[in-house]
Order: sequence, then structure tokens, then C-alpha cells
Amino acid sequence: MSSLVQYHPRRFRTFQYIYPVVSRRAGGLSIGVNLSPAAQCNFSCVYCQVLAETRKITYRENSVRKDNSITSINPDLLESELRELVGMVNDGSLFRDTWLSRTPPEKQVLRDIAFSGDGEPTLSLQFPDVVCRVAAVRRELCTESTKIVLITNGSTLHREPLRNTLKTLLADNGEIWAKLDAGTPDYFRTIARSAIPYEKILANLTEFSKTDPLVIQTCFVLLHGKEPDNSEIRQYAEHLRLMERIQRVQIYTAARQTPESWVLPLSDGQLDGISETVRKLTGLRVDSFYSA
Ligand code: SF4
Repeated sequence: MSSLVQYHPRRFRTFQYIYPVVSRRAGGLSIGVNLSPAAQCNFSCVYCQVLAETRKITYRENSVRKDNSITSINPDLLESELRELVGMVNDGSLFRDTWLSRTPPEKQVLRDIAFSGDGEPTLSLQFPDVVCRVAAVRRELCTESTKIVLITNGSTLHREPLRNTLKTLLADNGEIWAKLDAGTPDYFRTIARSAIPYEKILANLTEFSKTDPLVIQTCFVLLHGKEPDNSEIRQYAEHLRLMERIQRVQIYTAARQTPESWVLPLSDGQLDGISETVRKLTGLRVDSFYSA
């Protein structure tokens, strides 16, 4: 049987948009908000669990419409699902009557409501509306310590209209976890398989970090048995060093099925080695999350 952190169904009962997971990086219960039930994204990461599950292992650029928006969702339904699930956390029934009854008591705490799901959340035109709704539910039904987390690949952080929404999110005990999986354009192309250039992603993160805080999340894996080499890690760390408001760095590896047979998790020792190097080169707080 898979461990709780390996079991991430991203589906709950008949819900369409909201699901509970026990998250390694949240350190407890995280409620996921899926703004892309059709699994549309502008990256096709080699380790993506969604790709592994949907077998959409070709580039998915074509699934994103020209205006970069994705399939619309029903915000009223999303909000009512969120209210119901938070209610189940608060009355304890989530940990009594569902598969989450296996959750250790210390993890039975709602750490965050996270925009993650099956694609890049900020591509949704309804993202601003849903952020406001999630923030209202958090204020009404959750504890002060519950965070709102946006997990993003960073491709849209330069968009001016998004900035106000992200300010709202940050003001409601929010955090933005932005992906950076490479130190060089070549490695980025291999990992993300996106038409968006590495330089664009890097510029977005660097610019954003001048005014607002970011958590950097990085997935390193074995590609055909090889871990990222020292030069890749050093260049990655150098980019981090030049960013300004980095709260912490989360370095993790694949914990679940990957879409490609040649992509495997790093060992704990390999992950520790990389984290230590990054810590020394940047002076940043670096947290490691292992494969199991
Ligand atoms: S950015 Fe996220 S959802 Fe998109 S392909 Fe990469 S891991 Fe999957």
C-alpha cells in the first residue's frame, strides 16, 4: 500500500475542483484547488504526475488556447465544495469517515489551501475570482495560521493584471511557491519541455522577487540514471543568489509515478548533497523532501 504522501488522488468523492491531500511540503493536510480539470498546462515536465496519470506525454501547447486561458470552471460549485471540505475538517469527519482516517494525529491539521491541481492555475481567467472566494472562506472558516498557497511554474508572474490578485493572496497569509528546476536553458528544455524560454521564467522570478516574497520549489530527478551535474547546480544556485526576497527553497524529488521510464527519483543522499551545496552557495534556508 502506498504511503499517504504517495497517494495523491486529486479527486474526492464527486467533487470537481477541490480535494484533500496529506502533503510532504505542507507538513499536514492541504486542500487542493484544481482550476485545470482538463489537465492543461504550458509545461510538460518529465516528472509530472498528471502527465503520468493521463498519459498525455506529448507537448500540450496545443491544448492551451491562443489567449492562454484554459477551460472555464464553475466558481460557485468550487466555493461550495471548498466550504463542505473545510467543514469536514472542522467537524473531524474527514479523518473519521474517509481514506484520510490513516492520517497521523499530528498531521490532522489544515496547513493550507493550495492552488495546484492538474495544470498551471494562473492560466485560468477565473483565477482572480477564485482567489477572492478562497480568501473569504479562509477568513470565515479556517484558523489564522492556515495559508493560501499558489503553486506556479512562474510563466505568468510578469502579467500586470495578475499582480493585484497575487497581492490579495499574499495579504491573506499567502505564499507563492514558484518552480525553478534548472540552472541552464538546456537543462530547463529537457525537464520542462515548454516553448517558454528559460530566460523568461528566470526573469519573471527575479523581477517578482524584487517586490514580493517567493518560495522556490525545485524538483531534481535522475535522467537516464544521471543526477544534475555540479555545474548545473552551481548555476542554479547563482540565479537564486541574485534573487531578492526568497523565503526558502524546497528541493524535492519525484515521489510518485513519472510519465517517462527514464525519470527516477534521487536517493536521499543525492538530494541531501544538492541541498547542502545550494545552502552553502546561497545562504538560503533549503528544505529537502525525499521520495518516500
Ligand atoms: S508545471 Fe506542474 S502541472 Fe505543468 S507539467 Fe509541470 S509539473 Fe505538470
